[in-house]
Amino acid sequence: MLSGKMDRRKFIKNLSATVVGVAATPLLETASLGKSEQGAKVEHRTLGKTGLKVTSVSMGVMNCSDPAVLHRAFDLGINFYDTADCYMGGRNEEMVGKAFEGKRQQVLIQTKVHDSDEKKMRASVERSLRRLRTDYIDVLIWHNFNSTKEVSDPRLFEFMTKMKKEGKARFTGFSSHSNMASLLKEASKSNQHDVALVSYNFTHSKSLKEAVALAAKSEIGIVAMKTQSGGYKKEKMGGLNPHQAALKYVLMDQNVSCAVPGVTTVEEIEECAAVMRTLLTEKNIDELKRYHGFLRGRVCTFCGGCSGECPYGVSHQNLLRVVAYHEGYEEGRLIREALEEKDLAKNIHLCSDCSSCSVVCRRGLDVKAQMRLVQTIIAHSRV
Ligand code: SF4
Ligand code: SF4
Repeated sequence: MLSGKMDRRKFIKNLSATVVGVAATPLLETASLGKSEQGAKVEHRTLGKTGLKVTSVSMGVMNCSDPAVLHRAFDLGINFYDTADCYMGGRNEEMVGKAFEGKRQQVLIQTKVHDSDEKKMRASVERSLRRLRTDYIDVLIWHNFNSTKEVSDPRLFEFMTKMKKEGKARFTGFSSHSNMASLLKEASKSNQHDVALVSYNFTHSKSLKEAVALAAKSEIGIVAMKTQSGGYKKEKMGGLNPHQAALKYVLMDQNVSCAVPGVTTVEEIEECAAVMRTLLTEKNIDELKRYHGFLRGRVCTFCGGCSGECPYGVSHQNLLRVVAYHEGYEEGRLIREALEEKDLAKNIHLCSDCSSCSVVCRRGLDVKAQMRLVQTIIAHSRV
């Protein structure tokens, strides 16, 4: 039995460091832990320099096609919704627009645009506005940056500045699934981005945690995605349900403004919302330990540890998302959308020429075998 706040903090700090294999979360040492154990109340945090007050548990709409989930999220007090121009061929944005018609002032909407020429980007933003049934986007995100060059591209800043001046976007930022620590460090230097949407979960390294802290210090609002590290349903894990624990773990980092777990059902959004203002428990740590064991060697957990290791420039981390979407989320649509981003699969044929893979996974994944699996999935997806 743990007695007193200090013992509890030490316990969780030590356990989280040893069990899930990452550095202990500084948040676990803060004094606010005691008062936040009061049960499921909505918690708001400031989204960096935007000053927007967002619910710490927000909603990733990407996989959702049921407006009832959005209505339930709204009723639960959740106010920040992440969608994209490309999700479901635009139908995802349409659903968000319709669900929140008449409630626009009460919700914050984040959507995305892909790097292209100005005419195409402008057309994309206009389409998003029409689908969302609004004349402004709260946060407009560059979709899926991989390199530090993109983070500091003056051409992109120029476009985003125009969108702000024209009142089409209140705030802007970028998203990334790979190389996140470097990108966040670069963004902290350039001071041009208001928000960063990054993969962040309990499997990630200390260097990403430090980069998140640096970016937050530069007042970049950190929105965490891929918080569940895989999307496996409990049925597939013999009843194990670590999703609340994984979400709690991310939110223990106060440098995170909010998390946008991808939910598809009313039950899932209720499960996620209940995490606000709660703490990791011993049971949660045990669940994360078991989940970590389940994921090991199975799918990429987007930890970022092997960034830039393919000597042939294959975007292996982004491609490994395809396996996660296939094995965990079991969603053909997500696979197709991922592959369409920046022509992701264009040089995967190079993997066939490698007798062994130079990428070393820090989590025991056989990357060569995974890249073979990616090739098979692509062949079946006919992309
Ligand atoms: S198999 Fe070769 S080309 Fe493919 S990711 Fe590994 S090192 Fe790169
Ligand atoms: S392949 Fe391994 S090291 Fe690379 S990002 Fe995925 S889990 Fe991390």
